[in-house]
Amino acid sequence: MDNLISFLIAAVIIGAFLAYYLRQEKKREQKYRDSAERGKLRSDGPQSQHPHIDNNYCIGCATCTMVCPEGDVLGMVGGKAMIINGYKCIGHGLCAEACPVGAITMVLASPSVGADRPTLSPEYETSIRNMFIVGELGGLALIKNAVNQGRDCVDTIARRLAANKTSASAVGLYDILIVGAGPAGISASLRAAEKMINYITIEQSEVGGTVSKYPRQKLVMTSPVEFPLHGKFKKSELSKEDLLEFWGKVLKRADFKCKTGEKVENIVKGDDGIFRVTTQNGEFRSRHVILALGKSGNPRKLGVKGEDLPKVMYRLIEADHYVNKRILVVGGGDSAVEAAMGLASQVGNTVTVSYRQGEFSRIKERNSQGIQEFMRKGKLKVLFNSNPVEFRTDSVVIDVNGTKQTLPNDFVWIFIGGEPPTAFLKKIGVGFANRDITTEGSREAKEAKEAVLTPA
Ligand SMILES: Cc1cc2nc3c(=O)[nH]c(=O)nc-3n(C[C@H](O)[C@H](O)[C@H](O)COP(=O)(O)OP(=O)(O)OC[C@H]3O[C@@H](n4cnc5c(N)ncnc54)[C@H](O)[C@@H]3O)c2cc1C
Repeated sequence: MDNLISFLIAAVIIGAFLAYYLRQEKKREQKYRDSAERGKLRSDGPQSQHPHIDNNYCIGCATCTMVCPEGDVLGMVGGKAMIINGYKCIGHGLCAEACPVGAITMVLASPSVGADRPTLSPEYETSIRNMFIVGELGGLALIKNAVNQGRDCVDTIARRLAANKTSASAVGLYDILIVGAGPAGISASLRAAEKMINYITIEQSEVGGTVSKYPRQKLVMTSPVEFPLHGKFKKSELSKEDLLEFWGKVLKRADFKCKTGEKVENIVKGDDGIFRVTTQNGEFRSRHVILALGKSGNPRKLGVKGEDLPKVMYRLIEADHYVNKRILVVGGGDSAVEAAMGLASQVGNTVTVSYRQGEFSRIKERNSQGIQEFMRKGKLKVLFNSNPVEFRTDSVVIDVNGTKQTLPNDFVWIFIGGEPPTAFLKKIGVGFANRDITTEGSREAKEAKEAVLTPA
């Protein structure tokens, strides 16, 4: 009898949970349906790779919606998964990996977004023979993609060198010159060292690329990846500092040949097939060039009066270096919101965010919730529909809904994106075209598809 009562109680509790869950799911689906009917679904917007769902295969299990850490990128509508908020997708492809029936492939951005990408062969070669592009500059974001492409590109070059029986040791001539020491450039350099190829890497700033510019202690997420000279790197979540320390150790072991603080300004290919690579310090000659420049380029500027004051910055690494300050953060993307919350968490800071739109609509779910909470608790103030018009030494002038406001101010951070190095690529003659928009033919996509289709 006791057992029966316990069983009934358990059944009622489970039933209640199930009913609650199903009601929530129904509500959510209704919301998506309403949005779809009003043409308000945000399927647009992914800036790089994002999921493409094949409805013929989707079995409606909702695994993809559950594994996505970015919030409601995907949702269930009519028993099928679909993109609900595409702009929130950062393209790590966990949904594609998790889909049990292989209904999801990662594809590149829409043609309008991708139009400004260089033409690349499946081996990452540009329109100029023996000049390659790897990493985010080629259109695929994420550390794992940059690492894989850097490594595979050097393998291609190694095969060419072997086929041509090229002697590596001509004086002052490299076999490979790698521009950029972010994840892609580091991986390419390590593979070159592993294969004992005569290479040099040139980095305008510091080793680590975009990763070194992440805010302090930022959690880096990456899938397991094969690192040259190290093997499988299994950690999938670690801090920025841990990742940089790991790279530091591997690079030291590999006797990394890198010139930092040197910007590549021009590359010209001679009639002899040799590239002349110019930096502010001189010229290098190389048989092959790998461009691993990333996409961040130079930070985009507002172009307002006073923007050249030293208090105006475009990057925040150590939020805790700023206390008791009056701060303006300009922008409404994840970087702006994360910086504003970081600065507002420090003692005595007064933080105002200026955003030209009427709401934050393009940020990750956790940032969206975070900033609402900060606003609700009065930890920071957001001026929607506003634009800075002038930065002065100890104040800023902002146009809010057509009315000018002057705020006392010590520091300004501007996060309105970056200018990609398109002009540089065009100058050196790299061809651009509207590329095939899907990556379905690419190695990454094939591997992802095979991985989900192959039973463990
Ligand atoms: C805020 C933020 C958070 C992110 N979080 C994650 C995450 O958690 N997980 C993840 O997988 N990805 C994340 N990403 C994406 C990831 O950082 C990039 O996809 C990755 O860094 C791309 O690597 P890359 O080597 O192609 O380019 P980059 O890392 O951008 O490196 C390019 C390098 O080239 C150098 N360079 C450029 N031009 C020249 C020149 N003319 N001469 C010499 N050197 C030059 C630059 O100084 C730079 O060091 C994040 C990105 C951002 C902005």
